[in-house]
Amino acid sequence: MSILVVGSLALDTIETPFGSIKESPGGSAVFIAAAASYFTSPVRVVGIVGGDFPKQALAFLEERNVDLEGLEVIESGKTFRWSGRYKYDLNERDTLSTELNVFEKFDPKIPPRHCRSRWVCLGNIDPVLQRRVLDQIEKPRAVICDTMNYWIDRKNEELKTTLKRIDILILNDSEARLLSREPNLIKAGRVIRGMGPSVVIIKKGEHGALLLTENTVFSAPAFPMENIFDPTGAGDSFAGGFVGWLARTDDLAVENLKRAVVYGSTLASFCVEKFGVEGLKDLTYLQIQDRVRQFHELSRFDED
Ligand code: AMP
Repeated sequence: MSILVVGSLALDTIETPFGSIKESPGGSAVFIAAAASYFTSPVRVVGIVGGDFPKQALAFLEERNVDLEGLEVIESGKTFRWSGRYKYDLNERDTLSTELNVFEKFDPKIPPRHCRSRWVCLGNIDPVLQRRVLDQIEKPRAVICDTMNYWIDRKNEELKTTLKRIDILILNDSEARLLSREPNLIKAGRVIRGMGPSVVIIKKGEHGALLLTENTVFSAPAFPMENIFDPTGAGDSFAGGFVGWLARTDDLAVENLKRAVVYGSTLASFCVEKFGVEGLKDLTYLQIQDRVRQFHELSRFDED
C-alpha cells in the first residue's frame, strides 16, 4: 500500500534543557517517511532541499526503502531552516527562527508514478502547496494532513480552503484552539470537523491524543517516558506511524483508527528518546509491537 508524503526537509537547530544540536537533518517529510517506513512500502517523498542537505540523511531514508524520486535538489540553494527552544516543560516550545530558503520557490511536482498513491500524507507546509499536491493526485483512499500555528496565523483562509479536501486532520491542542477559536478541545474538534475533515486528531504532547469522529471521542495516553531528550518531530512521527498503520491494514473503520492513534503515539515515543531523527533509526517491527502492547497494559483495568 503506497503512501505519498509531501512536506518539509529541514536543517533544525534545537535547544532543550538537556542539550542542543545545530543543523540536524529533519523536517516534517523526513520524520513522517521514516516512521511510516516501518509499516509499509513504498513510502514516497516529495519535497525540496538545497545543495547543503547532508547526503547521509538521504542515504538513511533510502536504506529504509523510501522512494526519493520526487525530491528536488537545488544545488545552488539553501535548505529550509528551523530553530526552536524547549522549556523544562517539554510541551512548550518557542520557534526562534524559520528561514524558508528553497521552500519559497517550491512548486511540488508529483512524478507520474506517484499520482495514484493510495494514501496521501500532507506534512506541515504552506496550505497552498498542499492543495497543489492534491490537484495532481488521482482518487486516494484518504488524505491525512498536518499543519501548525505558523500557517494558521499566516494563511488562515488558504488553510480553510485546503481543509475542505482533507479526510483526517492531525494538529496539536494549541493549534486546534487557535484554528477553531474554541478553548474546549471536544468542541474545537467539532468546529474543525465542520471545516471539512471527517476525522480530527488532537495531540496533547505528553498527555496523549484525542480522536474525534462524528460519533466517537477516543482518548489515548502518551507513553510515559523517563528519558525525553528532544520532542522535535514527535508530531510528525505520530502522523507517520498513524498513516503507516492505516496503509498496512487498509481499514478506515473507527476501531482501526484507534489502533492507528496508538501506533502513531508509539512512533512518537521512539522519536523523543534521542535527538533529531536518531530515535527513528534502527527500530524493528517487533520493538514497535512490544511497545504497543505496553500501551495496552497502561490503561487496561478490570471493572470489578
Ligand atoms: P513537530 O515537532 O512534529 O511539530 O515538527 C518539527 C519539524 O517541523 C521540524 O523538523 C521543522 O523543521 C519542521 N517545521 C517547523 N516549522 C515549519 C514550517 N513553518 N513549515 C514546514 N516545516 C516546519
